[in-house]
Amino acid sequence: GRRNLDKRALVIGLGRFGSSLSLELVERGWEVLGVDTQPRLVQSYAEQLTHTVIADATDEEALRQAGAHQFHRAVVAIGDRLEESILATSLLVDIGVQDIWAKAMNRRHGRILEQIGAHHVVLPEHDMGERVAHLLSGRMLDYVEFEEGFSLGTTKAPRELIGKPLGQTKVRQKYGVTVVSVKRRGKTFTYATQETQLHTGDVIVVAGRTDDVERFAESAP
Ligand code: ADP
Repeated sequence: GRRNLDKRALVIGLGRFGSSLSLELVERGWEVLGVDTQPRLVQSYAEQLTHTVIADATDEEALRQAGAHQFHRAVVAIGDRLEESILATSLLVDIGVQDIWAKAMNRRHGRILEQIGAHHVVLPEHDMGERVAHLLSGRMLDYVEFEEGFSLGTTKAPRELIGKPLGQTKVRQKYGVTVVSVKRRGKTFTYATQETQLHTGDVIVVAGRTDDVERFAESAP
């Protein structure tokens, strides 16, 4: 599995997405080879990334010269140029890179990337737009959505849950959510149990279907 692979990544495209990703990997002790066609951009990351190369990732020979075949992992972070992104991804598949992450502009683009062999497709703008809509229109402080509409969200403790053990609040029957964890002001998160009693101002982590978590959060102060 992925766990066994080395801590090295090839990143194609050093725009906003590719550069943030690369810098974070380096921060985490990874070796990153950053590739971009723009000399100025490559130059500006030359100091911070392990290796940088000016190259066109749609050119198979250039990719090989950059050493792409030596990487188990690659990220295609080409922005809005569909054709380039698709071509670069397909070349990495041909080269035999085992774990390819590709950034898509939209669902259709993502589907194509999957079909040509990308192992992971990310839709940053789409996902972030959706996320902001949830946060803006609801009462959750933060949330993460997993598959099939299941979420973990944080919210302030609703008034009706305060002052009695969670086990007696019927929160699961009433809202279909489970309180997983609690954070008192100035403290860190701890696991919630049946006996946990919430206080005004507590922040809680709630698990459940996204709709249910949102409905629950609506009852927060
Ligand atoms: P975002 O802001 O979404 O990260 P950008 O458009 O800012 O996207 O960045 C994409 C980067 O990908 C640009 O720096 C661009 O030069 C680079 N790029 C585009 N096509 C290629 C290619 N064929 N090979 C290498 N880099 C490329």
